[in-house]
Amino acid sequence: MLVEDFLALDVRDLALAGVFRTSIGKPCSCSWNDADGVELVKINFYLEGAFESGLSLHITVGQVAEAGFLSQRIQLATLQRPYGGNKFLFLCSGKNGQSACDKRVRKLYLIEGRWLCRNCGNLTYQVRRQHDSRKDRLLRNPDLLTAALRSDDIRQRLLAIGAWTQALARLNRVRQ
Ligand SMILES: [Zn+2]
Repeated sequence: MLVEDFLALDVRDLALAGVFRTSIGKPCSCSWNDADGVELVKINFYLEGAFESGLSLHITVGQVAEAGFLSQRIQLATLQRPYGGNKFLFLCSGKNGQSACDKRVRKLYLIEGRWLCRNCGNLTYQVRRQHDSRKDRLLRNPDLLTAALRSDDIRQRLLAIGAWTQALARLNRVRQ
């Protein structure tokens, strides 16, 4: 179970980028690029709710016009800092959305199209194994991997990016 295998969204990065200082509903985006600067995944998001009564983040992965685009609403926990200002954390919505996990976390991982905390991600063990065999197939065949990275289907692209980040993580472990 390696967190490096998945795209992570860090609430601290969002805070540093000024997301929590923008107005409600203002469209923002964030993208992950490969080493050559080619965009692999882009998410669009905006803040919902009110600063006083509770905020959430509405995130869309992929273009809305695109088949299989994924969207999710993530609640934010607001913590008052003793010397003023707020600190934000994600509230994990849980694996199936019915039984909310409600864990306050700094990072969420994109697992099978949903943003989940590390704990909830671990529960998807069966899915992960199946996922891994599909990733391995891509890694053994660079043409398939390239085709998946350029696919119009966001799920294919995410699978390919998962395979790619997994390969990078392995490489780094070998180097150490
Ligand atoms: Zn969770």
